[in-house]
Amino acid sequence: MVKTVVFVGKDVIEENAKLAQRLRELYDKYGVIVYEFLGGPGSGKTSLIERLVPIMLREYRPERILYIGGDVATTLDTERIAKLGIRTVQINTGGTCHLEVPHIEATLKQLGGEEILRDLDVIIIENVGNLICPFNFPLGAHARIMVVSVAEGKDKFIKHPVSTKVSDIIVINKIDLAKAVGVNVDYMIKTAKEINPRAPIILASAKTGEGVEKLYQVMKEHIKRERT
Ligand code: MG
Ligand code: ZN
Repeated sequence: MVKTVVFVGKDVIEENAKLAQRLRELYDKYGVIVYEFLGGPGSGKTSLIERLVPIMLREYRPERILYIGGDVATTLDTERIAKLGIRTVQINTGGTCHLEVPHIEATLKQLGGEEILRDLDVIIIENVGNLICPFNFPLGAHARIMVVSVAEGKDKFIKHPVSTKVSDIIVINKIDLAKAVGVNVDYMIKTAKEINPRAPIILASAKTGEGVEKLYQVMKEHIKRERT
């Protein structure tokens, strides 16, 4: 049997970065704020978004928020978010472990083209559950939010320095479990800060709701900074 080692080509990543810049310009043309959530499977991305959407609904009408869920095979997460009454769309990547710009472009096209952005204020993208390659393929979002749960162990940030570094906001989720799993949260904060001093770190629990209001404040502050 031949063993094959496949690298994601630097060209592919560079090409995607260029395309992402074009997407960003498109979002800005229509004044749409785009948040992207990234993190490993089971880190709690969907649960956090479930908590955030009701907070966002104090500010925006439900039909002006679009959730785009990236998943390898199912529509389970998107079904959960759809219950909150906002617009939702599912991207099934058919096995690919991350979203790329063409996925988003094709989605906008299916929704009626870029004109759809006129009808939106916010897009929430949930990337495929994966702590590695989604971080290499920006989608033009104004804020990239990394979600890591304490249940994944204390070393997630040092094991994933690139992912940690490119994130704008870092959430340490499932904080309610920290004691039970015996994780040193201060160590997690320290290592995340060393790798990425510019990203605010939010301790949160999607289960209890702790930290979620704070997270949304930080998300909005980040957008304000992006725009000035
Ligand atoms: Mg999910
Ligand atoms: Zn991937």
